[in-house]
Amino acid sequence: SVVVLGSANLDVVIALQRIPSPGETVLTDTISRGCGGKGANQAVAVARSGAPTTFLGAVGNDDAGRMLLDGLAGAGADVSAVRRTDGSSGTAYVMVDAQGENAIVVIGGANAGYTDLTEAEADIIRRADVLLMQFEVPIETVTAAASIARAAGVQVMLNAAPYAELPADLLENLDLLIVNEHEAALSAGTQGTPEEVATVILGSVPGVLITLGAAGSLLATRGTEPVRINAPHVTAVDTTGAGDTFSGAYAAATVEGLPAVERLRFASAAAALAVQERGAVDAIPDRARIDEALRH
Ligand code: ADP
Repeated sequence: SVVVLGSANLDVVIALQRIPSPGETVLTDTISRGCGGKGANQAVAVARSGAPTTFLGAVGNDDAGRMLLDGLAGAGADVSAVRRTDGSSGTAYVMVDAQGENAIVVIGGANAGYTDLTEAEADIIRRADVLLMQFEVPIETVTAAASIARAAGVQVMLNAAPYAELPADLLENLDLLIVNEHEAALSAGTQGTPEEVATVILGSVPGVLITLGAAGSLLATRGTEPVRINAPHVTAVDTTGAGDTFSGAYAAATVEGLPAVERLRFASAAAALAVQERGAVDAIPDRARIDEALRH
């Protein structure tokens, strides 16, 4: 099974002609609410990809918290160990203008208080095949979870987004770092071709997966030749959540035991479907659609 430890946010998406400048007021009546947060998005992607999924994280004791739990459970993730804490759920206010540019304000809420893993949470991590995390919960929690997982022989995958520098005590417990091109350059501390950047990163982690947007993805593992594939040619309408869909689908393909190229193909097919639809969680495809896309 895959345990996804991370954030869950209520996404409040406000569509505007133009994002206001300081001191300015802009009117709109186009506002929508939905499930979001990298942790929740990735848990939904794993579950819809067909792998048994448990989500670990925290939501508030508010309506948003209930909605987030229902959304995750509806996708097939086990939410029985998610904490419901006093106060508000994490919330992201996303302004999107007519050109698709955005400006985002995130309130950490319950995610920020997700510290000090309990023994029950540690046991859930120990029973997993893969632990998948991101950086929208406190880094101390991510570091502690990685160490618990490593000690139990669980594969540890980290999508280092939003980018944060990786402390040594986290790096030493990672099996796979998942990054986009920008995060890869920051992690390596150097620019270059994806292959060159991957080689530098392999100096500190046994595996790295670099997503290259419409140009595809690259998987490099110590001691083996890197594998690079192209992304399917599609018309992208909204790339929000492409990386989350890719990470979740890749983790699911890993527990299925697929070989490297097949894992990348599976994750690319899922992400290509996601970018063809608007929204984050709503755009994450299920297994039937991924399999269908892979047949073409
Ligand atoms: P992020 O969204 O985290 O910045 P990327 O932009 O690298 O990450 O996208 C993640 C993955 O989603 C890519 O590796 C690719 O497989 C898929 N993807 C993203 N944009 C497109 C696109 N325009 N066409 C097809 N696939 C895409």
